[in-house]
Amino acid sequence: MNRFEAFTTQFVQGAGAKEGAVSPVIANSAAFAYGDPETAEGIFDGSVKKPLYARVGNPTSGKLESLLAQMDGGVGAIATSSGMAATTLAVMSLLESGDEIISIGGLFGGTYSFFEETLTRFGIRTAFFDVDALEEVEAVITAKTKLIYLESVGNPNMRLPDIEAVAAIADAHGIALMVDNTVTPLSIQPLKLGADVVVYSTTKLIAGNASALGGAAVFRAIGEGKDKFKTPRYASIHKFIDKMGAMALVAVGKKRAMRDFGMSPSAFNSYLTMLGLETLPLRLNRIIDSVETVVHALKEAGLNVNHPALRDHPHRDRYATQFGNGTGPLFTIDMGSAEAAYDFLRKTKLVTITANIGDSRTLALHMASTIYSDFGDNERAFLGITPGLIRVSVGLENPDDLIRDFIAAAE
Ligand SMILES: *Cc1c(COP(=O)(O)O)cnc(C)c1O
Repeated sequence: MNRFEAFTTQFVQGAGAKEGAVSPVIANSAAFAYGDPETAEGIFDGSVKKPLYARVGNPTSGKLESLLAQMDGGVGAIATSSGMAATTLAVMSLLESGDEIISIGGLFGGTYSFFEETLTRFGIRTAFFDVDALEEVEAVITAKTKLIYLESVGNPNMRLPDIEAVAAIADAHGIALMVDNTVTPLSIQPLKLGADVVVYSTTKLIAGNASALGGAAVFRAIGEGKDKFKTPRYASIHKFIDKMGAMALVAVGKKRAMRDFGMSPSAFNSYLTMLGLETLPLRLNRIIDSVETVVHALKEAGLNVNHPALRDHPHRDRYATQFGNGTGPLFTIDMGSAEAAYDFLRKTKLVTITANIGDSRTLALHMASTIYSDFGDNERAFLGITPGLIRVSVGLENPDDLIRDFIAAAE
C-alpha cells in the first residue's frame, strides 16, 4: 500500500479537467483584458474574481495554488518564482524592521544567508538554535519575536525537530510558526501539527525532475474567535483581518510581498509543477523505500552514513514516532576528507553532481566546497558541514543498482 494513497486521487483529478483541455491550460499572458470599466473596477476592489495582471496572479498558477492549499489543508496558497521567493514573501509580508526571528534546526544555505546577512541589513535579527535547544528558544522570546522558523528535516545535518513541541511553544507565546516543508511534502502536514505558514521549494520533489524553478507558501485560516494574529504583536496585519477574515494571511502575502516585490511564478513553470505534483505520491513513496534500503546497505558495507532510520542516529525514536512517512530523499555520507569525497564523486557512474535535491535521478554534492564554500568554520560546525560530507538525494533508480554503484565508488 502506498503511504500517500490519500493524495493519488486528489492530485490527478484536481489537475485535470473533465471538459475541454485535459492538461492544465497555460495562460501565457502578462496582462488580462477586463472587457468593460465596471468589471475593471470590480477586479481592482476584489469584488470580481478575475485575473488582474500576471504579477499578482495568473489562472495557471491559481490552479496550482488551490491544489497546494488542499494538499496541506490550508485556506489558500501563493505560488512564487522560487523556494527562496516563498520564504521571502512570508517573512517580508509579516515582519518589519526591529522584529526578531527564531530559526530552529536545518538549515538550507540560502535561507541561512537570507536570515543572517540580508534581513540583518533591513533591521530584522535572527537567532539560530539546534532542534533540541528548546529551553534556550523559550529564553530568547521577546515582544519583538514575530516568527519561529523551522525546517522539517535538517538539510544536510539530518537532525529531526519535534514539530509539535515547537508548535506548542509558538502557541503558548502567541508567535507565528513557519515550516519549510520542501524535503517532506505529504510526509509531514505542518498546518495539522500547529504551523501557521508552510513554505516549499516546488523546484525539488514537487516538480520532481529539474524542469521548473518554483515555490509556494500555504497559509492557515485566521480563526473566527481568538487567534494569535489578532494580538498586538501582529497589529500591522489587523486591517487585513478586518477586511479579509479567514483569508487574511493570503491577502497580506499578495498585497505586501507579491504585488510590491514581484516574485511571481510564470504560468509555464506552474504548469510543469502541476505535472510533477500529479505523480508526487507515487514517486515519493518509492524514494522513501529506496532511501531506507540504500542507507542500511551502505552502513552495513562500512560507510559513514547519516540518516535517522539508522540505529545510531540520535533521533531514531523521533523518526519512528513522528516521521512514520519518511524524511524525504536525503542522506549524507562522510568520506572523512575532501579528497576522499572528490574521489567518490569521480568514481560513481549513476550519481548526477548538482546542488538540486528531490529529482527523479539520484543527485549528490560535496557540501564544504560548494553550497557552504562561503561559510566560516563556526558556521559550518553549527550546520554540521564536515570536510568529507557528501549529500545524496535518492531518485527513482533501482536501489540495488545504486547500492552497487556507491560501494564500488567508495572502494
Ligand atoms: C532548495 C531549497 C530552498 C530554496 O528553493 P529554490 O527553489 O532553490 O529557491 C529552500 N528550502 C529548502 C529546504 C530547499 O531545499
